[in-house]
Amino acid sequence: MIVLGIESSCDETGVGIVRRHADGTCELLADEVASSVDQHARFGGVVPEIASRAHLEAIVPAMRRALAAAGVERPDALAVTIGPGLAGALLVGVAAAKAYAAAWDIPLYALNHLGGHVAVDTLEHGPMPPCVALLVSGGHTHLLQVTDLAEPIVELGSTVDDAAGEAFDKVARLLGLGYPGGPALDAAAAHGDPRAIAFPRGMTGPRDPRYDFSFSGLKTAVARYVEAAGRDGTELPIPDIAASFQESVADVLTMKAIRATADLGIDTLVLGGGATANTRIRSMAEERCAAAGVRLRVPKPRLCTDNGVMIATLGAHVIAGGAKPSALTVATEPGLAVSTSQR
Ligand code: ATP
Ligand code: MG
Ligand code: FE
Repeated sequence: MIVLGIESSCDETGVGIVRRHADGTCELLADEVASSVDQHARFGGVVPEIASRAHLEAIVPAMRRALAAAGVERPDALAVTIGPGLAGALLVGVAAAKAYAAAWDIPLYALNHLGGHVAVDTLEHGPMPPCVALLVSGGHTHLLQVTDLAEPIVELGSTVDDAAGEAFDKVARLLGLGYPGGPALDAAAAHGDPRAIAFPRGMTGPRDPRYDFSFSGLKTAVARYVEAAGRDGTELPIPDIAASFQESVADVLTMKAIRATADLGIDTLVLGGGATANTRIRSMAEERCAAAGVRLRVPKPRLCTDNGVMIATLGAHVIAGGAKPSALTVATEPGLAVSTSQR
């Protein structure tokens, strides 16, 4: 069976095609992504109207390129992100998915974006055992419990303020490193001392929620540090600030993820989302998983950021699990709950 997936929840227009084999494994046939990230750079964050317009321009060419790359004329099923995400951006992918599904007369599956970030790992690392998933991107920071990809996901915790990637972007902006700032901040941190500045570890007190995150206090601490340096007229130690900030984010994320695996008796941790490209988040997850006897699964960076393949792969798992197709009248759901896997 061949499944085509469409993703348009944020600033990437993704069209992916996978083939599901009889043994349940999936094979990647096409992975086309057009990003509008450059158009948002001067605003320092994703501008919803710009993202929607870029999706409109990119979706049909991306569909054509993906079909040509896979050598497929008509897939057997179509999967699309129905939420969570930006309303106008989602609308473009969902409208396109409905039109293609109707024209090809194939079933449509309207799916949860977050499930896709977990499902995509099966392409590289095989069937997914029950796991804890840590999703960190510009729009999301979630700690999830996944028992079966075809079943609803349980949310253990999430950020109460900024997403982790958003915190990277805001701090990078404070340091004059451009947008998106995650990669630049990561590079600057490579030359810094992670112990140079004792930035706070948000929400790690004994009375704080076990699995939720907060990064706004950390961001404020960095802003205060930068202000104080400006008043004193001292030169900003940018590598040390970057390394110390990054250490705090990686510390809290991996500590709570490992805590969840221990609490739940689960031996697999999956990472997903664009911010898992971060060098320190990856290395600390590796160190702590090894120490705790937890198996760590991380998709390659290209599959960690938003793409259509992850939705196609989730679609293949959901179909294999016996799900019914969604109605062609299905509506986008910008605030879709993690626990709702399909609409
Ligand atoms: P969504 O939240 O809907 O998944 P998004 O577009 O906000 O989508 P992604 O495209 O998955 O998120 O990831 C982009 C985010 O990842 C940005 O915030 C970026 O700064 C961050 N990021 C990318 N590389 C790194 C890195 N090496 N270190 C830290 N953050 C990074
Ligand atoms: Mg993005
Ligand atoms: Fe995403």
